[in-house]
Amino acid sequence: MRAIPAGCDLILVASELEQIGQHAHREAPRECCGVILTRGTGRQIIEAKNVQDLFGPPSAERAFRVDDGSLQRILTLCQDGWRVAVIYHSHTNGFPGLSARDREAAVPAGRPLYPGAEYLVAAKRARHADGAWTFSAYAWERGEYRLAPLTVQEASGAASENLAASDAPLG
Ligand SMILES: [Zn+2]
Repeated sequence: MRAIPAGCDLILVASELEQIGQHAHREAPRECCGVILTRGTGRQIIEAKNVQDLFGPPSAERAFRVDDGSLQRILTLCQDGWRVAVIYHSHTNGFPGLSARDREAAVPAGRPLYPGAEYLVAAKRARHADGAWTFSAYAWERGEYRLAPLTVQEASGAASENLAASDAPLG
């Protein structure tokens, strides 16, 4: 597989988007959450558990909180040279953007909690079981997370398509 270049656009492998969509589908109507880690040309998805119901309200249908076990696993991998490239979660109310709460969590003190990481939101109304998930990417730019082009690369590195959604008001 061709190396995925760094840059402001979020470039995912098609199988990653498929896996995240499946994760979101399994968890619905709860939000799913996880990360994509990269090291050199290596990439791996860590599917985290959403333990928001232990801390809510809001419930895990409206928010997410990564479980300690997954956080520890991610931390250990980062100490081994992996970095958090993408933080993803789902919105089962269909809202395709980062909510005010998402932004607060991502930028707790005016600075990104995970510099260099981009955010991916998979959105679908949970009751529309057959519909496809809409994916939106957000990159840190000029002091806030802004909608960024999302490119999906086939494993061969040949084909790509742009799935960027239109920006949406904060929810
Ligand atoms: Zn959210």
